[in-house]
Amino acid sequence: MSLIVKKFGGSSVANAERVFNVANIIADEYRNGNDVIVVVSAQGDTTDDLIEKAKEINPKGGSKRELDMLLTAGEQISIALLSMAIETLGCPVISLLGWQAGFNTDSHHGVARIKSINTERMRSELSKGNIIIVAGFQGINKYDDITTLGRGGSDTSAVAIAASMKADRCQIYTDVDGVYTADPRKVKNPQKLEEITYDEMLELATLGAQVLNNRSVEMAKKYNVKLEVLSSLERKPGTIVKETVKMEKTLIKGVAKDTVTRISVIGLKDTPGIAFKLFNALSQHKINVDIILQSVGRDATKDITFTVAQAQCDDALEAIKSLEDGLEYKEISYSNDTAKVSVVGAGMESHPGVASKMFEALYDAGINIQMISTSEIKISVLIDAKYADKAVEVVHNAFIG
Ligand code: ADP
Ligand code: ASP
Ligand code: MG
Repeated sequence: MSLIVKKFGGSSVANAERVFNVANIIADEYRNGNDVIVVVSAQGDTTDDLIEKAKEINPKGGSKRELDMLLTAGEQISIALLSMAIETLGCPVISLLGWQAGFNTDSHHGVARIKSINTERMRSELSKGNIIIVAGFQGINKYDDITTLGRGGSDTSAVAIAASMKADRCQIYTDVDGVYTADPRKVKNPQKLEEITYDEMLELATLGAQVLNNRSVEMAKKYNVKLEVLSSLERKPGTIVKETVKMEKTLIKGVAKDTVTRISVIGLKDTPGIAFKLFNALSQHKINVDIILQSVGRDATKDITFTVAQAQCDDALEAIKSLEDGLEYKEISYSNDTAKVSVVGAGMESHPGVASKMFEALYDAGINIQMISTSEIKISVLIDAKYADKAVEVVHNAFIG
């Protein structure tokens, strides 16, 4: 007998027919004699719809605490419906909200981190022979307030359960049958990867391949949880995410894109400590800064440009403007029409020519590069958002064909 954790995303449970499809997958696993814990997301676009509802009440968005209270309702609906479907199939089942399943988080509403999982309730339900259906993406903080883990957070809920319950398998079911070299809905000849390492998957996820949430991959690596990404609609093997993979056939594992905010602080004093002041303020506001570019000082001034996630744009601008001991600058400008396109593959540093091949593909397509950032496992370029899909296509063609 094995303990298997399965996670089903929103599209996998979007309507009654899909809910029954998922219920059957779960019931089959249970009838094979396994313990099964399931994490489920809100149905279809429910989370987006709830965010829109909040905006109808307060266009600026209500308090983050109340937004979490609202959004977690989406997952509450799915766990109940899925459990009812499993009941009709004659299997014993119980649904649990995040707090009932023991998810303790910090208090950063909207982006909470899991601090611990009290597994007592889940263990007791398994010992009674129940299938457990857990609401993904949610937990509770030390003040007994409901929190959410950030968009796409159900993947992280599943990996966290797999790690804390020492599950034998953690399967992430979605609407594609695995991890591909680029979004299979966007490029022409995507190739399905049989396996991918945690590090490569982490880069791809962080750089915009939404098939897995990046925090879930980070956690899977930390606790050595082997993941499988597979389809909820077709029963066939998916992609395995693990520490090491068989012989690398291709150097480049994938191409990903994301839209970002580019912020420029123009006319800063060209003296020591300016970058520290700026980025210290951002870090204190929990803002993740990505690509940074500082111009060479001229006429005693310099410019610093950097990127942040679009969701953090307002907070980042606010953090800079509210710098207490003032940061002198001429102006701040920002753009949300910016995209980051990246190629990912381990061992890039020992293969010269990857960067030039990428830049050539963009040049041939007439796409201008605004900023470049490299690491041993990826190369990213910042471009005008309207060329993002085109850029992914031509770069994917250049490397994978
Ligand atoms: P779920 O609702 O199941 O969590 P998501 O929409 O979050 O599903 O993630 C699945 C989607 O990720 C796919 O429909 C696909 O369009 C997209 N995607 C982006 N990049 C990739 C990739 N490299 N491989 C597979 N899917 C990808
Ligand atoms: N329902 C949440 C979201 O849409 C969590 C998830 O799907 O993982 O972001
Ligand atoms: Mg998802």
